[in-house]
Parts: sequence; C-alpha cells; structure tokens
Amino acid sequence: MHFAELRVLYHRLLFDLISRARAVHLEHWRGESVQRCSLLSIKTGGCSEDCAYCAQSAHYTTGIEREDLLPLERIRSAAKQARAQGATRFCMGAAWRGVHDGTEKFERVLEIVREVSQLGMEVCVTLGEIGDNEAAKLKAAGVTAYNHNIDTSPDFYPRIVSTHTFQDRVDTIRAVQRSGMSVCSGGIIGMGESADDRLRMLEVLSEFDPQPESVPLNCLMAMPGTPLADAPPVDIFDLVRLVAVARIAIPRARVRLAAGRTRITREGQALCFFAGANSIFFGDKLLTAENPAATADVKLLRELGLNLELLNEKQMSSVAAEPVRA
Ligand code: SAM
Ligand code: SF4
Repeated sequence: MHFAELRVLYHRLLFDLISRARAVHLEHWRGESVQRCSLLSIKTGGCSEDCAYCAQSAHYTTGIEREDLLPLERIRSAAKQARAQGATRFCMGAAWRGVHDGTEKFERVLEIVREVSQLGMEVCVTLGEIGDNEAAKLKAAGVTAYNHNIDTSPDFYPRIVSTHTFQDRVDTIRAVQRSGMSVCSGGIIGMGESADDRLRMLEVLSEFDPQPESVPLNCLMAMPGTPLADAPPVDIFDLVRLVAVARIAIPRARVRLAAGRTRITREGQALCFFAGANSIFFGDKLLTAENPAATADVKLLRELGLNLELLNEKQMSSVAAEPVRA
C-alpha cells in the first residue's frame, strides 16, 4: 500500500480508523484468536553491530552479560517449557550480524532447529543476515519463519545503525522469501522517528511480495547504556493507530505486540487487540528485556474473551509422548 494511502488512514479519526481495521480483522481472521510466541535468546550480547536501541551491541556498555550459543539441551528444555505454558511458536534469537553456511556455529544452529522442530510448535529464528544457502538449509532443518526486522523507514535507518544498511536487511528478507520460509518482519517505534517514518516502514513491509506472514511491532525498551537510553515512552494511541494501519495494509499477517508490552496497560493492550493485533510475545523474558508474566497474559486474554491459539491436531500428533497443557 502506498505511503499516501497509509497516511490518510493513519490520520483518520481514531475510532473510524479502528472500526475499519476491526472490519478487516474480522474478514481475514475472525478476530478472536491470539497466538502466543515464546522468544529465547540463544546467543546473547557481544554483537558487532551498532544498532542504537540494542543492549546486545558490543559498541555500548549496557551491563548485559555475554553468553555463547546455549547448549542444545538448555534450548530444548526452554522450548518444552514454552510449549507447556501454551506457546504455539518458538522463536530463537542470536546477537550476531549474521551466520554463514560452512561454519561450525551454523551447523550447531541447524542441529538446534532439527531438535526443536520435533516439538510441534512453529519454529522461528532470528540470526541476522543470511543468504540463499543459509535460508535453504534452515528451511530444510525445520524453520517455518525467519525474523528479520526492517525496524524503521529507509531514511531513518542510518540514524539508528551505521554498521549495515537498510538494503542489507531487505536483501536477507528476499533470500528468505526465495527459500520458501515465511517472513516475519516489523519494526520499533519510539526511537525519535516521525509518524511518517513509521508509515514509510509499513509501506515497505506491505509492498513485499508476498507480504510478511507476521509483523512484530516493538515499542522501544530504552536500555541503559545505549544511545537511546533516555528516549521517552511511546504514546499508546500512536501504537494503536499503527496496529490498525498495519492490520489494514497487511491483512493476512499476524500483527504481533512485541517488546515494550510491560509499559502498556491492560486497557491499552485491549485496544491494540481490538485494532487488529493477534499475536504476542509470551513468557517472562524477551531476549534481554522484561515481558509481562505468562499468567497475567492468559488472564487478560480470557477476560477479553479472546481465544488462546493452541497447537492443532497435526502439530499435536508430531509431539512425542509428553503432555501439552493449554
Ligand atoms: N541480531 C539479529 C537481528 O538484528 O536481526 C536478531 C536479534 S535482534 C535483538 C531482533 C530485534 O529485536 C531487532 O530487530 C529489534 O526490532 C528488536 N529489539 C532489540 N532491542 C530492542 C529494544 N531495546 N527495544 C525494542 N525492540 C528491540
Ligand atoms: Fe546485533 Fe541484532 Fe542487536 Fe543489531 S539488533 S546490535 S544486529 S543483536
């Protein structure tokens, strides 16, 4: 969808915008079900890149403890715990610029994916830059979706990152698309960008062909030690508007409330679900940031009458003998 159209939508009266988004949501999703994704940092900190929002960048002193790639057994047990708590998607993130086929670390990641994909959940990884070879091997190992956020508009991107370019991000997304994996791509708001930057970001996302399967919307978690440590919190109505425009522009995507939910009230989250959000990151930790407690999320979704998406029969049948709780 073109920027001009997105802009008209975004600036409509709030209730008109939400009503329109709600209609699109009901048409494509029946509007009632929310997916819970769990996110685990499998390799933390010490990243070569200088993304200004990120506590894992080696360019800033943030107090994050570096951790090498976690052992397979720890990842497997975290994945099983996430499944027991009700996650239907398990995402694994690594603080790397990227990974290359032929390296030992890539082989280890493939082994991890092969194991985790036996557990019946959708498997998503976010490993930074990859090309065609890596994408093909990750898909063959069992990855269902690859996350690679474009994060902001093409124009604002160089203000946030200098060690790689917006085009580098797009090139990875294209490699993921060629492999047949689903693309998960979204961004962050609250980094000092304008409303137009947010809409330019949605323009790029909505013009991918095919459109992304999921769109995470992060509110900046201002991390001490990063250049954005003092950024003010995002206004809730700005987020609601963006969720609504994302729902209209990318109707079949899961629009995911990602980082920053700890700062959003229950009422604010309810408005986001009404405006079209239908997925959340779930679990007490989000990479290195705090996330609302899993039990509080379940309570909120139940109070709102939203269905908790569960593993389907096919996914369940691929699960070995262990019990799965809702
Ligand atoms: N290194 C990989 C990459 O850059 O794609 C994967 C990990 S990176 C931490 C994944 C995403 O988390 C980023 O693209 C960004 O959207 C989000 N993120 C990281 N730090 C954040 C923060 N402080 N606040 C909000 N979102 C953040
Ligand atoms: Fe590294 Fe990813 Fe953080 Fe950027 S966002 S510093 S690439 S871990």
